[in-house]
Amino acid sequence: MKDTLRHAGKRKQLVDVLIRKGIKNKAVLAAINKIPRHLFMDSGFEDHAYQDKAFPIAADQTISQPYTVAFQSELLEVGNGDRVLEIGTGSGYQTAVLCELGAKVYSIERQKELFKKTKLFLSKLGYRPKHLSFGDGYKGLEEYAPYKGIIVTAGAPYVPKPLLSQLAINGRLVIPVGEDVQIMTLFIRKTETQFEKHEFGEFRFVPLLEDKN
Ligand code: SAH
Repeated sequence: MKDTLRHAGKRKQLVDVLIRKGIKNKAVLAAINKIPRHLFMDSGFEDHAYQDKAFPIAADQTISQPYTVAFQSELLEVGNGDRVLEIGTGSGYQTAVLCELGAKVYSIERQKELFKKTKLFLSKLGYRPKHLSFGDGYKGLEEYAPYKGIIVTAGAPYVPKPLLSQLAINGRLVIPVGEDVQIMTLFIRKTETQFEKHEFGEFRFVPLLEDKN
């Protein structure tokens, strides 16, 4: 696992691309500037790691496009020590971004292969999420609720109720909602029963799946 000056240079260029596309949050940009994204991808794709594109990882899944990771992270408004739940651990790249932002990260993955691989990999890289869980993200993770932030990194055909109910008051749920195309949606919990909803345009994700394999 190597990270070289050449990789660091490419990361800086990627950060400049994200700034041009409208990402402003300094902590998010610093995290992307720091994390060796090429190590999160299968070796064949290493050269593409610092393009602003999604790429295939194991189990027919993808590592999200850097712009999407930055956009969702910015919407979450993570503060130091905030408890954050991620649905769809995947390669662990978004998990690493959340760790860099100072969050206490809980993350769920439904693919056993990815869950095992990423758990090992993140710890090798020195990232310490609070809890990585193998299971169904539609149910959230009641055990550690409430969360200040919940981020869904797969396309949800509808908004799962448990995710809304596991949100702290003033907590933020960032979720791409839709079947073929998703609308990035932010819910802010105002009271026990009231949620504010904001929409942020179209994105494309692999689907949030219900049946485990
Ligand atoms: N955050 C990841 C994105 C991976 S793509 C990254 O940065 O690499 C979405 C991930 O969501 C996939 O790994 C997929 O297996 C997972 N996923 C799909 N349905 C899920 C579900 N119901 N519960 C938990 N994870 C799920």
